[in-house]
Amino acid sequence: MNHIFTTRDYAHHLAGEGTGVGPMIERVSPGSGRLVARFRQGTAEDAAAAIAQARDAFDNGPWPNKTGMERAAVLRRWADLIEENVERLARIEVDEAGKPIRQARGDLGNVVSLTHFAAGLAMQVHGETYSNLGPQKAGWIHREPVGVVGMIIPWNFPALIFAQKVPFALAAGCTVVVKPSEFTSGTALELARLGTLAGIPEGVLSVVTGYGDPVGEALVKSPDVDFVSFTGSTAIGRRILANSAETLKRVSLELGGKSANIVFADADLEDAIDGSLYGIFYNQGECCCSATRLLVDETIADDFVARLVARAKSLKLGDIHADDSDVGAMISDKHFDKVCSYLSKGKAEGASVLLGGEAANQDAGLFVQPTIFDHVTPDMTIFREEIFGPVLSIIRFKDQDEAVRLANDTIYGLASSLWTKNFDTAHQITPKLRSGSVWINTTIDGSPQMPFGGYKASGFGREMGQAGLDEFTNIKTVFAHLGKREPYYTAKS
Ligand code: NAD
Repeated sequence: MNHIFTTRDYAHHLAGEGTGVGPMIERVSPGSGRLVARFRQGTAEDAAAAIAQARDAFDNGPWPNKTGMERAAVLRRWADLIEENVERLARIEVDEAGKPIRQARGDLGNVVSLTHFAAGLAMQVHGETYSNLGPQKAGWIHREPVGVVGMIIPWNFPALIFAQKVPFALAAGCTVVVKPSEFTSGTALELARLGTLAGIPEGVLSVVTGYGDPVGEALVKSPDVDFVSFTGSTAIGRRILANSAETLKRVSLELGGKSANIVFADADLEDAIDGSLYGIFYNQGECCCSATRLLVDETIADDFVARLVARAKSLKLGDIHADDSDVGAMISDKHFDKVCSYLSKGKAEGASVLLGGEAANQDAGLFVQPTIFDHVTPDMTIFREEIFGPVLSIIRFKDQDEAVRLANDTIYGLASSLWTKNFDTAHQITPKLRSGSVWINTTIDGSPQMPFGGYKASGFGREMGQAGLDEFTNIKTVFAHLGKREPYYTAKS
C-alpha cells in the first residue's frame, strides 16, 4: 500500500462564492471506509449563479468568439496539465469511486487523449457551402455552438465521462455547467481547476456539486440552459426528458445497458475467455456497457465455461490502491445491497452458481465476490435487469439466429460483443444487433475517434468522435440572393 489518505475539502468551481458554504456531503471511500472528501451540498441558487455566469460568458464573453485555433491551444494546454497530474487524479478516483488503481490510471490516460482529440476538432468546426444554386443564389450551412450546456455525470467513470463531454462542448464554443455525482465530485473539480490554469476563462466552465435534486433539476429546468447532456440511469434519464419538456431544450441521454457477449465455436477461445472476464469484471461490473450476458455456442460451452471459471478464481479484490488489484468495491451501501439482492434472486430463480454468489468478506470495503451464474434463462431477473455489479449470466445458444434473438431480448441497446474468426459471421450479424456499438474480438474498447451511445432504452445522442462535437452545435442555414430580385408581386394598377 503506497497511498497516503487525506481528506480533501472542496468548494464549487465557480467564479465568486456561490451562496456560501452551507451543509457538506461527506464521502467515505467504499474501498477503505475512510473519509476521503467533503463536497459542498449545492443549492438551486448555486446552480442559478453558475448558469448566469455561463449565460453571460456565452452571450457576451470571449469564448464563443475565439478562433478554433485559440480554443485548441487552451485545450491542448489543459490536456498537458492533466497529463502531469494523472497519478494524483487517479488516486482520487480510487478513493471516491472504489475502483482499482490500474483502471483509474487507464481512465485518466483516456481523459488526456480525449482532451487532445477535442483540441484537434476545435480547429475543424466548419459548415458547407452550396455554390450550384444558380448565379443569383448562394447557400451556407453554419455550425454554431449550441450555447450553455448543463452536464450531469454519474459516479462510475467520473473523470472519463467528464472528458467525453466537456472538452467537446468547449471545442464547439459552448459554455458549460457540470453537476458531478454526489459520490465522486473530486476529479471534476480538479479537472476544472486545471482548466482555469490552462486559460479557460471565468464563467466558461463551472462545477456545482450536490444532489440531483436540486442541482441537476435546476440545470434541466432552467430557460437559460440550451442543452443538457446526461449520463446516468434510465430511470433518471426519463425524468430528465420529462423535465426538459417545459423549456423544449435539446437533451442527450447516455443511459443503462445489459450488453450481450456472444462467443462462437470458431473464436480464439483464449482471447474470448480473457475478454469475457474483462467485459464483466472491469470496473467491478459498474460499467454501462459491461458484457453482463455471456451467450456461448452450446457445442463449446462446457469446456469454455470451465476454463472461464478457473481463470476468474485468480482475480484479486481488496486493496484497491495496490497495483495488482483487479476488482473494486461497490459505490455505496445502497448499491451494495442492491447487487446482493440480485445474487439472492439469481439463486432463488434457479440459476447455478459457478463462482462467488456472496458479498466478499473484506473488513473495510463494500466488495462483492466476482460471481458467475450458469444455466440462466431469459425470463430470469438477472438476465433482464441492469445489476451494475460483478455478476455474469451465462446462457447457451444453438445457432446464429438464436444468438441474435437472445442478444436483442432486452429493453437496452448500448453495446454488443462477438467473438469469431469468421469474418462472414461477424459481418452478417453486426447489422442485426440492436445496439449503438458492436465490438468484434474485443470488448469495452474504443478510441477518441469512435462515437459512443445507445439504441432503445440506452438513450440517444452520441459522445466522442466528430459526432461528439456535432452534438454541441446547432445548424444555421443562410440563404442569400445576389443581385436584383425578380419581383414575385408585381404592382397592380
Ligand atoms: P443516476 O441516474 O442515479 O445519477 C446520475 C446523475 O444524475 C448523478 O449526478 C445524479 O446526482 C443526477 N441526478 C439524480 N437525480 C436527478 C434529477 N432528478 N435531475 C437531474 N439530475 C439528477 O446514475 P448513477 O447511479 O450515478 O450511474 C449509474 C447509471 O449510469 C447506470 O444505469 C449506468 O448504466 C449509467 N451509465 C451510462 C453510461 C452511458 O454512456 N450510456 C455511462 C456510465 C453510466
